[in-house]
Amino acid sequence: MIKSFTAIFLAIASIASTQASDFPIKDKPITLVVPFVAGGPTDRVARDLAEAMRKPLGGVIVVVDNAAGAGGSIGANKVAKANPDGHTLLLHHIGMATMPTLVRNIPFKVETDFEYLGMINDVPMTLIAKPQMPANNFKELMVWINANKGKINLGNAGVGSASHLCGLLVQNAVQVDMTTVPYKGTAPALTDLMGGQIDLLCDQTTNTSTQIEAQKVKAYAVTTSKRLTTPALKDLPTLDESGLKNFQVTIWHGLYGPKGLPADVQTKISNALKAALKDPEFIEKQKGLGAVVITDNRIEGAEHKKFVAAEIIKWSPVIKAAGDYAD
Ligand code: ASP
Repeated sequence: MIKSFTAIFLAIASIASTQASDFPIKDKPITLVVPFVAGGPTDRVARDLAEAMRKPLGGVIVVVDNAAGAGGSIGANKVAKANPDGHTLLLHHIGMATMPTLVRNIPFKVETDFEYLGMINDVPMTLIAKPQMPANNFKELMVWINANKGKINLGNAGVGSASHLCGLLVQNAVQVDMTTVPYKGTAPALTDLMGGQIDLLCDQTTNTSTQIEAQKVKAYAVTTSKRLTTPALKDLPTLDESGLKNFQVTIWHGLYGPKGLPADVQTKISNALKAALKDPEFIEKQKGLGAVVITDNRIEGAEHKKFVAAEIIKWSPVIKAAGDYAD
């Protein structure tokens, strides 16, 4: 009896280890879930990363799946509940740290339902307006905001998104309540902003820099503590120097798998991510859009996890303090 139990145990162990070391399964694509619609900044990082990770993953195709909605929590939940075989991964942003405070009752736990595979980049945000906006600088924008109280539409990618967080902080800093217009990502929000259907948007430079350069939107400031060096954005002041003291928000992106991903699969994916982050083409593309590829220890899964835990602690009181503007 004991002998047959041992045999069964050994057989199971051997199947498990074969499956783990077989990753990635040849001809089976890896699905990279993006929790926002195609064409936006999170999607853009994912598509560039998918291309850069293909070679280090032995040629396996990485397919982007836009599971958008509910401020990024639908896509995150999809991956939290996925089979932990390495063929379903999640690319998410700062929402992993702000969702627990911004969204009531998310159906997963950020801290325990995922394996952390490493961070990808840091991305500044920009405060932009529709092209018809009469204000030509932040000071004039403040005059316009104060003169239009009760009539201002601010776009975002839903409660829990990065643009929601930034918009919340802007409203709190200027002490003006705006009507928020949620989208399933900031690509359609930017389209509506360019068309004048909404007034303001705060979004990652990876989405806005091209339209700022083409003067299809009006840009007022960056959300980082220092000005940026990216040619299209270098003349923009920071919100802090514009008068919103200590305003600082930087969006970051990371890679996750479902909890239970075998250790050797995690290592293979993390190594592929590290290789992608050293790919000169990927680095150049990110740089051109104002993003900075991670080179510090947050490239390691364990440090990535620590960083997200620290971000949850950092943002929770800030969000609660700005709570009156959270809708
Ligand atoms: N930038 C978006 C956000 O505000 C999401 C996106 O469409 O990538 O969270």
